[in-house]
Amino acid sequence: MKAAVLRKPGAPLVVEDVEDPRPAAGEILLEVKACGVCHTDLHLAAGEWSLPKLPLILGHEVVGVVRGVGPGVSNFKEGDRAGIPWIYSTCGTCEFCTSDREPLCPAIVVTGFMVDGGYAEYAKASAEFAVPVPPELTFVDAAPLYCAALTPYRALKISGARLGDTVAVWGLGGLGHYAVQITKVIGARVVVVDIDSSKLEFARRLGADFAFDASREKVDEAIRSLGGAHVVLNLAPAPQAVEQGFKALRRGGTLVLVGLPQGNFSLPILGSVAKGIRILTSAVGTRQDLREVLALASAGKIKTVAETCRLEEINSVFERMRQGKISGRVVIEFT
Ligand code: NAD
Ligand code: ZN
Ligand code: ZN
Repeated sequence: MKAAVLRKPGAPLVVEDVEDPRPAAGEILLEVKACGVCHTDLHLAAGEWSLPKLPLILGHEVVGVVRGVGPGVSNFKEGDRAGIPWIYSTCGTCEFCTSDREPLCPAIVVTGFMVDGGYAEYAKASAEFAVPVPPELTFVDAAPLYCAALTPYRALKISGARLGDTVAVWGLGGLGHYAVQITKVIGARVVVVDIDSSKLEFARRLGADFAFDASREKVDEAIRSLGGAHVVLNLAPAPQAVEQGFKALRRGGTLVLVGLPQGNFSLPILGSVAKGIRILTSAVGTRQDLREVLALASAGKIKTVAETCRLEEINSVFERMRQGKISGRVVIEFT
């Protein structure tokens, strides 16, 4: 099969022929129809994280058609539509797996990081963790839901944001374009912050009430003048966004860290405690969160804004993503 392979961190992906994966017990084989390009893939390709597997096929927003079923699989059959998220598998029995926190399982196996992912014509999945693609959705619309929509959905859920609250979304990329829509669904006011002015108009079209360019104005002051944010969702791949977002919070506000740039942040201790600030982190979501997000999309409450590309174009898509020039998600489409 054809795949885009990461052979050397920091070097372009190489599109080449590799052996087809074979489903073992408990696994299914997907003919990949679409795979979203997540900024996490860019962090991995750049060698920002240490890689447990090389060569590696990236891609964890994978949807397609089941073409093979390993022994012991009863929940999928050939011809079914299925998708593979970031979580390839977990142990299923630890305190995290049994308490709605499966992304924290110490035995987690990650798609497109620890096992090969979806930048390829075929990909394997653990049948227990693959989630059906609803019939209402095209493959291209469905693929980014498996990470880019799932992640802010979960982050917003744990933030406790409520009807009428002000939620500031930092970074209007793939995750951000869903974050705006999901925040509107819960009836909160949405403020978007980005550093690319072309994203501001896009944010308003998606339903944002306010949109600010952090490269041109003091966005924390602007948000405080609106009363301050009850919740800041930090989706930007930039460390300085954490401290900026913190300053935009109102008393009792919640900062949720989601973006994964390299580096550290520093926040004032007294200023945090005296204002009752909560600082949370959020990593992807559970299979149940994913089913909920797919249901929202099937009902037309959130929509994917995607442009498609061919597998051979992946390195130029990475370059545009590095420059923050993508609106919504780019999805690799296999025809
Ligand atoms: P993306 O490239 O599609 O979008 C990033 C957006 O952030 C762009 O619009 C860019 O202009 C904007 N941006 C950059 N610097 C900024 C700044 N200083 N202030 C405000 N906006 C800024 O990326 P994405 O796929 O949406 O992913 C975003 C981040 O979330 C990445 O770091 C990714 O690795 C991370 N991520 C985390 C999880 C998780 O589970 N925690 C899951 C998926 C992605
Ligand atoms: Zn992702
Ligand atoms: Zn576990």
